[in-house]
Amino acid sequence: MTTADTGRTRARYFRKLSDIPAELEEPAGIVTDRLDRPLRDLRISVTDRCNFRCVYCMPKEIFGRDFAFLPKEALLTFEEITRVARIAVAHGVEKIRLTGGEPLLRKGIEDLIRMLGELRTPQGHPLDLALTTNGSALAYKAQALKDAGLQRVTVSLDSLDDATFRAMNDVDFPVDKVLHAIDVAAAAGLGPIKINMVVKRGLNDDHVVDMARHFKGTPFILRFIEFMDVGSTNGWELGQVVPSSEVIRRIDAELPLEEIAPNYPGETSERWRYRDGSGEIGVISSVTRAFCRSCTRARISTEGKLFTCLFATAGHDLRALMRGGCTDEQLATVLAAIWRSRDDRYSELRSSSTPGLHRTGKRIEMSYIGG
Ligand code: SAM
Ligand code: SF4
Ligand code: SF4
Repeated sequence: MTTADTGRTRARYFRKLSDIPAELEEPAGIVTDRLDRPLRDLRISVTDRCNFRCVYCMPKEIFGRDFAFLPKEALLTFEEITRVARIAVAHGVEKIRLTGGEPLLRKGIEDLIRMLGELRTPQGHPLDLALTTNGSALAYKAQALKDAGLQRVTVSLDSLDDATFRAMNDVDFPVDKVLHAIDVAAAAGLGPIKINMVVKRGLNDDHVVDMARHFKGTPFILRFIEFMDVGSTNGWELGQVVPSSEVIRRIDAELPLEEIAPNYPGETSERWRYRDGSGEIGVISSVTRAFCRSCTRARISTEGKLFTCLFATAGHDLRALMRGGCTDEQLATVLAAIWRSRDDRYSELRSSSTPGLHRTGKRIEMSYIGG
């Protein structure tokens, strides 16, 4: 087995068949990590490509014309994705979210949704199957996605102001098209639809209240996300983060709010509702109020690496194991071993400003690992 020094702990990575423990184990419907967190959610990046160049995610200077995206043969096939998902579900995964890059750019995505839709939890329940999209192709795809078995979509939308939106996606994509797509998706039954707005100081923070006002009284749940230091190309600085407390203060001053209980323990979003009863909003405070304690999420990158944290510097190469001929039992054993050894809590450590945490290795880009 190979070892890699993450700067924090000495982690062991599964990369080849000989790394697999000889003693195999059957999934028991639950596996917990070193901080007693069960594996419940799986985010799967189905492509590292995107038609947007959001300035905080895929800046043009880095992701330009000559950027080398993954070749087709490097991507996990739908069969490989479904195989990993099936085993993860046997270990307790209940929610799967497809992401990227822009997941709707992956050819035949409906076929993958259909395949994942057939999976059942050990208790016989269907999965909670969702997808995060920039909305650019959603109007064309919504009905086909619904027909394939997708339950919900989350749409990213960083401003209602056309000029700001075009500047943030940096490909001059108009905001009207995304707003139209949200309505089409709702009509197709892909709800409850969440709208994600990443707030970056000096870029779109002046649009927070406009966004709240626009979606107030609609069935759409608007969520404000703190700009995160994920990857190493977006030039993140703490001063660009608008704390959720400030977002809430600004909205509350014009549209009075009160906090409400989470839908379930460990929900990443803190919920607030309008005092006049016209709906709710959420804030995701990944920087100022870390939620690692309840993080039950694993991520699979486009080329089949399993990451146990958004801020991990390396992943376990499940594609190499599968293409090397591992059995389902071996894959199940590896997945359990990876999860059991997990002790990630990057955001918590960042919040307690542990010195030396930053830049301890090349961090993985959001578009590759899947946001
Ligand atoms: N392309 C799809 C989209 O934009 O919805 C899915 C992938 S995108 C990486 C997933 C989510 O991550 C989006 O809501 C995006 O706004 C968010 N995101 C990307 N970079 C981020 C950052 N540095 N901080 C916080 N959120 C970020
Ligand atoms: Fe593309 Fe989504 Fe990243 Fe924007 S946030 S560049 S839409 S992957
Ligand atoms: Fe989970 Fe890592 Fe984010 Fe903490 S920093 S919430 S462990 S993904």
